[in-house]
Amino acid sequence: MTLIFPARAPVVIPIEGVAQGFPVRRIYCVGRNYAAHAREMGGDPSREPPFFFAKDADAVALPGAPVPYPPGTTNYHHEIELVVAIGHEGFAVDQAAANDLIFGYAIGLDMTRRDLQTAARTQGKPWCTAKNFPASAPIGPIHPVSRTGILTAGAISLTVNGAKRQASDLADLIWSVPETLATLSQLYRLLPGDLIFTGTPEGVGPVVAGDVLVGAIDGLGTLTVTIGAPGA
Ligand code: MN
Repeated sequence: MTLIFPARAPVVIPIEGVAQGFPVRRIYCVGRNYAAHAREMGGDPSREPPFFFAKDADAVALPGAPVPYPPGTTNYHHEIELVVAIGHEGFAVDQAAANDLIFGYAIGLDMTRRDLQTAARTQGKPWCTAKNFPASAPIGPIHPVSRTGILTAGAISLTVNGAKRQASDLADLIWSVPETLATLSQLYRLLPGDLIFTGTPEGVGPVVAGDVLVGAIDGLGTLTVTIGAPGA
């Protein structure tokens, strides 16, 4: 049968150094995965297993795409994160085999309507409107693991208008990437095109229209995002 309107084309993230792209399937995110950030959000990093939420594929803001200040918030926060791009299918994988699923890595921002998240958490309601909306997942080009090697340590940082806001090290992840992939793959069959935002370190805070965010992760270059005028 014919379609009553055109199906949306997949979101395709550029791959560094080659004229090829990575079509996005799903976006999974890990909550509170650095100890100091868990504490700043009122959690206890010593007792909490990894937990997950999700964003739609079209939450991605491609490199250079506009990132408007979203509706419905007056406390819009940055969260710099290492993103893992999945290139191979895996279900219930062992930690020892989990890194074999990885196609590559990118710098990402898990942009968050913090006021809505805080209200939802207090009321025991879902996080969807706080986390999942257009342009809530700005991302840089994907760097193939064949060139970066497996990342287990390295500086991760974010500046806003040149001032340092977040600075940590990938070695400080509470749940390492293989531990996260092993746990997540017990719940979902991971498939090529999936992205996993691995959590943010401490120092999250608000941005306003006109702010220039520069994220950096050792080996992955930088990601620059300018917050635009209010829009959806
Ligand atoms: Mn996050």
